[in-house]
Amino acid sequence: MRPMTAKGAGLVPCPACHKLNRADANGQGRCGRCGAHIAGRKPASVQRTWAWTVAAMIAFIPANALPIMTVVRFGHGHPDTILSGIRTLMQMGMAPVAMIVFMASVVIPLGKIVGLVILLVSVQRHSAIRPRHKGMLYHMLHLLGPWSMLDIFVVALMVAVVRLGFITSVEAGPGAAAFATLVILTLMATESFDPRLIWDQAEPHGGDDDGR
Ligand SMILES: [Zn+2]
Repeated sequence: MRPMTAKGAGLVPCPACHKLNRADANGQGRCGRCGAHIAGRKPASVQRTWAWTVAAMIAFIPANALPIMTVVRFGHGHPDTILSGIRTLMQMGMAPVAMIVFMASVVIPLGKIVGLVILLVSVQRHSAIRPRHKGMLYHMLHLLGPWSMLDIFVVALMVAVVRLGFITSVEAGPGAAAFATLVILTLMATESFDPRLIWDQAEPHGGDDDGR
């Protein structure tokens, strides 16, 4: 026999103070202790996560197509996009920095978007991927979150390089704003996703009754 779940018992944790509350028939209600709104699952989690993910895909285009910075070296410089900037860094003999920029600016955001799409499609289609593996994927997406800030580290590094006199100045371009938007959108997408939806499908009566 399967162990009883809190959801099966009609209990819902409060997102603000973590008190377990008895929810109404729709799995909604208010926390008896702090009055916060409670819901058995994040409302419209899949739809919201899709919305943030699609927005992130759109932001990915200007983040890569628009110049992200202008590095002035020996008195002349031209605006660089992420990819041309990586090439410039390589030419300047800064291969490790180029690798960090490539990981933080291309691999991680793209990986997050692809991972989110896999999670969403698998939850919607009840795919054969084991819940445990989906859970690991979600955990990885969460772990990647703070690493998006690696680019801030790179900017700090560039400032240090300027101070050391290898290059004269670094200016941020419009692509930087688009990239910051992209990072925020992927973080919002990961936060909107309710990982419990992964496990609802493993329950005999879970998920579909309020699969929102
Ligand atoms: Zn509460």
